[in-house]
Amino acid sequence: MKLKKCVLSFTLVLALLFSSIVPGFALEMDENAVVTPASVLEIINNYSTNPDTVYTVVAQKQLQGFGNETYTYYKLSPDGYAILLDSTNSLMEACYDADLYPACGEYTNSALYYGGPDVLCTLTNGQFTDVVSNHIYTADEISGIQEKQLEVETAAVENAELSSSSGSVASPTVVTPPIEFEEDRFASVEYSYFRNMYNYGYNTSATCVVIAASILLGYYDNYVSESYVATSYEQGNGTSEAFHQYLCGYVYGVSTPGGIALGNAAVGLNHYLADRQLAKKFVTYSGSGIYADMIDLIEYGVPFVGCISMSNGADTNHAVVVYAVSYNTGEAASNAVFTCHMGWDHEAPADPTEVPTSARLISATWFYNYAIIEDSTDTHAYTSWSYYNGTYHRRQCTSCGYYRYVEHIVTQWEDLNDAYHSGSCRTCNHTFTQTHESCWDDDLDVCTACGHSGSYTSTITNSTSPVIYMVCLY
Ligand SMILES: [Zn+2]
Ligand SMILES: [Zn+2]
Ligand SMILES: [Zn+2]
Repeated sequence: MKLKKCVLSFTLVLALLFSSIVPGFALEMDENAVVTPASVLEIINNYSTNPDTVYTVVAQKQLQGFGNETYTYYKLSPDGYAILLDSTNSLMEACYDADLYPACGEYTNSALYYGGPDVLCTLTNGQFTDVVSNHIYTADEISGIQEKQLEVETAAVENAELSSSSGSVASPTVVTPPIEFEEDRFASVEYSYFRNMYNYGYNTSATCVVIAASILLGYYDNYVSESYVATSYEQGNGTSEAFHQYLCGYVYGVSTPGGIALGNAAVGLNHYLADRQLAKKFVTYSGSGIYADMIDLIEYGVPFVGCISMSNGADTNHAVVVYAVSYNTGEAASNAVFTCHMGWDHEAPADPTEVPTSARLISATWFYNYAIIEDSTDTHAYTSWSYYNGTYHRRQCTSCGYYRYVEHIVTQWEDLNDAYHSGSCRTCNHTFTQTHESCWDDDLDVCTACGHSGSYTSTITNSTSPVIYMVCLY
């Protein structure tokens, strides 16, 4: 399920990019029926990541929730969207650079159900079907969505009641400094760096946690210490796809990359940091109090990886980098809205005056955990490398048991006979035997690995010694 969500998100971006270049695409929602209140437009413009642009609503559609409330989806001009909780006008999520649900136009007449960031479905014959991925949500998934959404709604409604009651208290009081003002705050960390960042690798296999870590490590490499990322993995002012793949090696080992919980990914990420000789580690926090802590982190200048869930069990989730926050100092932290890098938009904008569309605003309550890079007192020490299988050697951390897997590298092959050459892995010393045939250059009649020339003996039949095939290295 984790895997599905991240793949879904990537598909969504493709759909989004596609829709934006299709002329004549139009969202025919309640265009005539509803006039958007000025207060909604004010809220939408207040949160905008493009403050020089005045946003208007060109279409809107009410969305059903899975809890007790309804929501409205506002399609914005010149671009983007916002989703607000109707009873409080609390901003649930928004993007000011790209529309989120290009498929909405097809659902003018159907009820749409909103379950949080990236969950929008139709209901047909008792089945909730995602309008973007066509995923059919199970009953368990729906109850998870509902549980989380009720929590979000309760916080929003309580916050709205609190702010309206405090507004009606007008008794004059004498205060002595220091005075704590109720104040709307916007805080960010290297805002334009993150806002314009598209160098961090490709999220094509639900590796959103690793992508987010790549973005964060790229930031640390730029602003904190150059030891966070080797120069060979730097790209632009961020990091390359090769770095993303390299980090995947730490996080997934010999498993297939895919959705992974933040805390589980941190084990591999922390060995990466240890291997970089950095006394640092990713530490994951969850539970009550995270919203206030998340605000403080941004105020203190610490960006972090946050996970948005659609349920408290977090079966599906998306990891993002959080780098800015809008909140009011007199209100509950759950009322805050964070600016996030979604990790999807890995190409430079076609128009160089444009910014990438990876910035999205997300209400605090959709988050369920986050991880920051902290000082570490852990001592990770490895055993020496040993052969694991035909592809990998590995070594183990003697302190926590983590296995680091790296592919064998044979740099020198020795001509054995007419059929084979052999060579040893430079790291684990395991000897591999390979056929000339697998590395044969038919034009030059030479083995590109060991230099055996003229002809070779084919070993397809009656091979008596085990042959491990490897990528030719020459
Ligand atoms: Zn360890
Ligand atoms: Zn090896
Ligand atoms: Zn050879």
